[in-house]
Amino acid sequence: MAAINLSNMTKEEVIKAVVENGGAGITKCIQCNACASVCPVAKAGFPLYGRLLIRKLQTGHYEQIIEDASSWACQACNRCTEICPRDAKPFEIVFAFRRMQAKELAISTSAFTPLMNLHATGHAVYSEASKALRKKVGLPEEPLTSINDEKAQKEIQTLLENSPMAELGIF
Ligand code: SF4
Ligand code: SF4
Repeated sequence: MAAINLSNMTKEEVIKAVVENGGAGITKCIQCNACASVCPVAKAGFPLYGRLLIRKLQTGHYEQIIEDASSWACQACNRCTEICPRDAKPFEIVFAFRRMQAKELAISTSAFTPLMNLHATGHAVYSEASKALRKKVGLPEEPLTSINDEKAQKEIQTLLENSPMAELGIF
């Protein structure tokens, strides 16, 4: 995975990097703030919630925000995408930024446990307690995922161990 050269990135280069990492809607955002009104990240008081993150990226202030942990609080709930009047898909922009942060290993420690869970089970969040709940609603206790598929789990581990994340030393 190619590292991003943070120094001297122009506004256009930052926008291009966001688009290449999956945030194609970045140029559509008109800063109306509708997404913030429904966003748990904003409600929890994180400083760089969706709209502000997008503004920083639109204006090329990437180096200034690369270490900010707000993006790692995104719950992937997609409320922002539902409400956005410009179809900018802010959730995708937040995740594009997270990918860019990950490439720089600027990963919040709050993401370490989910990453370790992913390596161990194939789920970022997995609780044995879910078995009882699944049984209660008539589902098999174990989900039909990598949790019960050793081959799939090995593939996930191989991917993680050969990704830049391995440099974090948490696997
Ligand atoms: S997907 Fe992320 S950025 Fe969008 S509303 Fe949910 S928490 Fe906020
Ligand atoms: S992403 Fe959409 S909802 Fe959020 S500020 Fe931009 S235009 Fe408004």
